[in-house]
Amino acid sequence: MRSVTNPTAFHVVLLALLLFGWLTSEVNVTQGQQLAKNAPTPASSHSLYLPVVADNPAQLLPATATPTATPAATALPATPTRTAIPATATPAATPAATPAATPAGSTLLTAWIVSQQNSPIFTDATVNVQQVTAKTVNGTAYVCITTDKIPDYVHTTTASDIAWLNSRPKAATDFRSGQTTLSAGSQVIFGADVGYRSLGCAQTDKGYGYWPPGPKCPTAQNAERCFPLQPTPASTSCKTGLGDIGAWVNGVAIFNWGDGFSYNNQSVWQNIAATLEAYDLDLCVGHSAGGNYHHHFHPSCLADQLGDDGSAHSPLYGFAADGYPIYGPWQAANTLAQSCWHTRDYDTPASSSGCGSAGRRTCLLVDETDLSKGTVAASSAGPTTAQSVTSLSGNLFVALSGIYRQDYYYDASCTAEGGATLDLHNGHSHDALGYHYHVTVTRAANGDLVPAFPYYIGPTYAGTLPAQSFASCSNNQSGPPGPPPRPAELTHPDTHE
Ligand SMILES: [Zn+2]
Ligand SMILES: [Zn+2]
Repeated sequence: MRSVTNPTAFHVVLLALLLFGWLTSEVNVTQGQQLAKNAPTPASSHSLYLPVVADNPAQLLPATATPTATPAATALPATPTRTAIPATATPAATPAATPAATPAGSTLLTAWIVSQQNSPIFTDATVNVQQVTAKTVNGTAYVCITTDKIPDYVHTTTASDIAWLNSRPKAATDFRSGQTTLSAGSQVIFGADVGYRSLGCAQTDKGYGYWPPGPKCPTAQNAERCFPLQPTPASTSCKTGLGDIGAWVNGVAIFNWGDGFSYNNQSVWQNIAATLEAYDLDLCVGHSAGGNYHHHFHPSCLADQLGDDGSAHSPLYGFAADGYPIYGPWQAANTLAQSCWHTRDYDTPASSSGCGSAGRRTCLLVDETDLSKGTVAASSAGPTTAQSVTSLSGNLFVALSGIYRQDYYYDASCTAEGGATLDLHNGHSHDALGYHYHVTVTRAANGDLVPAFPYYIGPTYAGTLPAQSFASCSNNQSGPPGPPPRPAELTHPDTHE
């Protein structure tokens, strides 16, 4: 297996762990799930997801924020191109009356990876951020980035990559020849054929065999995303919603923990994308929704591009819609920032986070940030922790605690464990960095990295979403709005866009 400090094969680790069971012991109980191979369940008892809205959707949230009456849209000169991202930010020219003592504003102007090249595979796709622009709208200063294409990750495969690809539960049919055409050490350009039984992308006529069956190809996204130059701490709770909740420094969209679906389509037990979409991701652990390529957790190929090897506090990976920066998983040399969101213990009847009967998922927490407030009966039960569920792409998962959003609670006492623990929003403030989020992972017994809820932002923003935000709070959104048909690509996996 790969080394701890090599995040490039992170997804391999994730998926390998899905195969062999979660090894981590840092988080309460087992975090995540095993594949059905470890716990065979008759097909007749599988619970099927009835798709509502695929992994969201641009139609739910505007992809672009279009500030009106922009006084002075000034293109910023000399934006860096694939230069090293400063590990420490130096506040510069920060306007007075900064609500949050944070240097985020300055990095918002300079941290982006601005495009200068075209993807060799998606030949019409100029990649990364196209432009960074300072704007003032109604007295609020914003930094706006524009992207108009899709990313261009390059990934060098490891032996673990190959093992993971070939151990997909449905490898026999997912690949044209039953296994990947790659070998260890291959350089895979975004969109290059790795042997999947999938068609290319209508837009580019490229991407044949790159995408696992299920997700559609990404398409060019003409999007502008504006971030407040000076983040303001949130005064009310604001949950991250579906669609874009931020952007990585290469312009790729940041999505939250969910895929927009829930157990039996009842909006009670909401899917965790990192687990239930584990086989629906490309080699860079991304996929598209409505054409919008995005990540739901630790962006391993970006980590590689940024040279984040765990030798120091991680570099800046991106920004949340509230303007606060997101750093990689390392809090310091060889020290991971630690999420304090833990999985509920359904298996111990006396557990304060469980439902009183071993394995049963019949209750919800009254307050997910305070276990002492107890539980309340769920309007519909979720699967037991021994049951198997079938994902949208037809892969089986054992429903261990951790595959649904409602399986998590915030452990306030966790912060006593050390300085690297994070707050409710998955952030903290230290040194010259000001307030910032961290990408969170845990380290398994064998040293591998495993993504940890809430993965980076949230589940609530630490900051206030500004008027011109491309994101919005989803406080009243318990589940996706219905009712849409099963996406064609799921019933006909080869019919990629
Ligand atoms: Zn997704
Ligand atoms: Zn930090």
